[in-house]
This record gives sequence, structure tokens and C-alpha cells, in this order.
Amino acid sequence: MPAGRFAPSPSGDLHLGNLRTAILAWWFARSTGRPFLVRVEDLDRQRSRPEFEASQLADLAALGLAWEEPVVRQSERDPLYAAALERLTAEGLTFECFCTRREIAEAVSAPHAPPGSYPGTCRDLDEAERAARRAERAPALRLRARERAWTIRDALHGDVTGHVDDLVLRRGDGAHAYNLAVVVDDADQGVDQVVRGDDLLHAAPAQAYLTHELGVAPPTYAHVSLALNAEGRRLAKRDGPVTLRDLSPERAWDLIGASLGVGATSPEALLDELDLASLPREPWVVSL
Ligand code: GLU
Repeated sequence: MPAGRFAPSPSGDLHLGNLRTAILAWWFARSTGRPFLVRVEDLDRQRSRPEFEASQLADLAALGLAWEEPVVRQSERDPLYAAALERLTAEGLTFECFCTRREIAEAVSAPHAPPGSYPGTCRDLDEAERAARRAERAPALRLRARERAWTIRDALHGDVTGHVDDLVLRRGDGAHAYNLAVVVDDADQGVDQVVRGDDLLHAAPAQAYLTHELGVAPPTYAHVSLALNAEGRRLAKRDGPVTLRDLSPERAWDLIGASLGVGATSPEALLDELDLASLPREPWVVSL
């Protein structure tokens, strides 16, 4: 069944901005008749901690949010990512890349490509060249993109067209890349509505394109505005009492509800009070 989701990375406590995104992800799903899923994005083994996964899920429950079980973890889904890569590779849609970060930074990007885009260095190496390079370094696997621009539909931003890079799908050390995992997971879980912070808006066109290349219709998106501190920087734990370690769920609801222009203090009340047209498009400057 088509679904919506919230997909936190368990690398810290959820702060007010993250909690608000979670509440909005729940609202988008339920107000459109979709089940709501939670996925633990613990692909980054260095930064992810089981105790943060536990506290994040407990925080969502404390806000009254309910989700479908089971909660899936990216760290347990490598075979799925590998299978998707195999399919893309069989279709000629990947290539081995031997470039270092520095080589990419120093190379001249293709005309019209944004700065930092992959310059295409390894796209057309022949088998002999690849064999020679493999002896020096384990290659990353990149997407052989067939389009350079893709348009997504976003409930808050309208149609957004962005650059499609030859994304890294698997790093040289064998780790699957976030861009692959997020796309494969959403496709596998039937997620057709992606709600998340607008810091990821720039990544959405290439992710939607990759979804398309996997033979799945790209989701619709809603990139919601971020929470900022008084200085206009992205809210962080050091800004004060911004997590449920220091705030009661009631206080968090008061603040988040006010930021959305509603008095709702529960998910159900939000279904009655919130509507898409009045959702704020501007960042939420949190004053405590
Ligand atoms: N795991 C990402 C984060 O916590 C969100 C990715 C997504 O929602 O697609 O920033």
C-alpha cells in the first residue's frame, strides 16, 4: 500500500525541528489516507547508536505518533541494496570510478554542470584501463545517468528541476551510499510520499531519477522548512532546551503547534486543524 514515512538518522536526540518534521510527516501521511512508516537510517555506522534509535522512537511515541510495525533499519538491508545495484549494473547503468575526492575537486566540470559535479573521468574507461586501475584502488560504483536534469513535484515547493549527477551508489570501501539506500528503501516499502527537511530538497531530483531508473514511479515530496536558532542558524542541541530530554511532550506540542499556527496538542487534533495551504513555507525561528 502507498505510504508516507519519517526516516531519522540515529546519530543524536531529535530536536524541535526534527520532531516537527516527524509530526508533519505523520500529518501528510494520515491526512492523505496513507499508513505512516518509520525507518531508521543507520547506514553511517560510525555515527549511528542504538541508544539514539531507542530514544528517537520513544520521543515519537511520547508525542502520540503511531507507526506501522516493523521499523526497518538500513544496517540490516545490504542484500536489498546489492540486488538493486546488480540490476542497474546488468542494464549498463553503473560504472566503476577510481577518482579520489581531490581529483574530482580539481577536475573541470562539464559545461552547465553545477560546481563539484562529477566530471565524467571514469565513465568511458575500457576494460583494460579498468583492470589496471583496479590493481591500484578499489573502485566506487557510480550511476551512469542518462539524463542530466529531472523534475520532482513537491507539495510545498511546486515543480523543482535539479541536476542529476553520476551519483556514487557504492563507495570504494564497499559501503552502499545513502542516495542508493534511501531510494531502494522507499521503493521497497511502497513509500510514495517523502516528507523531510528542506535541506534535502537539492538531493531530490537525482534521487527521483534513480527511482525512475529502478522502474518505480518517483514519490511526491514535501520538503518542510527547517528550525533555526535566534542567530538564523540551523537549530542544534546546544541552543538550549530543544529535545525531549529537557522539554515535556506537552511543551514541545505547544511550541510546534504555535509554529504551525494551530492550537493542536495531539496528532488527531492536527488532522482537524492543519491544512496544506496554511503550512508555513518560511523557516521556523525557535525562541525559547
Ligand atoms: N535520514 C535523513 C536525515 O535524518 C533523512 C532522509 C530522508 O528523509 O530522506 O536527515
